[in-house]
Amino acid sequence: PYDVLVVGGGPAGASAAVYAARKGIRTGIVAERFGGQVLDTLGIENFIGTKYTEGPKLAATLEEHVKEYNVDVMNLQRAVRLDKKDYVTLELENGAVLRSKTVILSTGARWRNVNVPGEAEFKNKGVAYCPHCDGPLFEGKDVAVIGGGNSGIEAAIDLAGIVKHVTVIEFAPELKADQVLQERLNSLPNVTVVKNAQTKEITGTDKVNGITYADRETGEEHHVELQGVFVQIGLVPNTEWLEGTLERTRFGEIIVDKHGATSMPGVFAAGDCTDSAYKQIIISMGSGATAALGAFDYMIRN
Ligand code: FAD
Repeated sequence: PYDVLVVGGGPAGASAAVYAARKGIRTGIVAERFGGQVLDTLGIENFIGTKYTEGPKLAATLEEHVKEYNVDVMNLQRAVRLDKKDYVTLELENGAVLRSKTVILSTGARWRNVNVPGEAEFKNKGVAYCPHCDGPLFEGKDVAVIGGGNSGIEAAIDLAGIVKHVTVIEFAPELKADQVLQERLNSLPNVTVVKNAQTKEITGTDKVNGITYADRETGEEHHVELQGVFVQIGLVPNTEWLEGTLERTRFGEIIVDKHGATSMPGVFAAGDCTDSAYKQIIISMGSGATAALGAFDYMIRN
């Protein structure tokens, strides 16, 4: 059996694997796609200590760093079941069952897509999901935020301080964000809110140049010229496969304590799949380190 088995090869998992391996204990990492969301990212400017890097480059250095140590890397393997007997057991899609004294779950999350024409085509070419990451790229430009929940309105307030103008597009007749956020939003001069509107298409040539939405009452279509679209309709943790095993929030996020421990003894979690505040590379790496140290602590006590 392993001492520490990490599930997920994003920044959280890579960090957990390095921290575990440096304790000289038997460490393995199972990843469906080593690199995780970082592989889908173009420019990264908020990874402190590195002024600028690109996703695929950072993903390669994560893998390189993990391989510096004696870690079993099982890439392109999907975990499908977690169980606890004497050991924690992890079943893979290919039928293999791995055993470990401790497991660190770091399966990340995915942004919910609006699934309209142009979204996939212009990803990283005007279509963005993270205002903290990509907001500054749109300085002085016009953008839209799709989604009027808390994350959408927070994004709109954040962006309004950077860009020229923000159009918020909400599907429902009312915004769902907290009242205090709505009040803050309404106080801003460069924000327009469109409610009861269905996004139809993100338009562009080589980059985004506009968005088309339909008024859901009249069916009338409107087109707004702009350079960026932030999709803010939810971040979904990759934890469906854990249904019925350990405690998760109503959004599916794994609940962890300050040592990264979950409700299942010996099982820890880190990164975007947990209920941690804010989902960022540097934050997930920190929580990966926490979970590895937490797992090590657990091992020497049990
Ligand atoms: P992830 O990166 O999601 O990694 C999850 C890992 O788990 C992957 O290896 C995946 O294949 C694996 N996995 C999932 N399910 C299973 C399973 N069942 N079995 C085995 N493996 C599984 N953050 C920043 O700080 N700066 C930025 O500039 C930035 N830009 C971004 C741009 C985009 C387009 C996106 C999508 C995100 C961006 N982020 C950015 C957010 C950042 O990428 C995430 O916060 C970070 O990657 C989270 O790391 P993680 O390790 O928790 O999860």
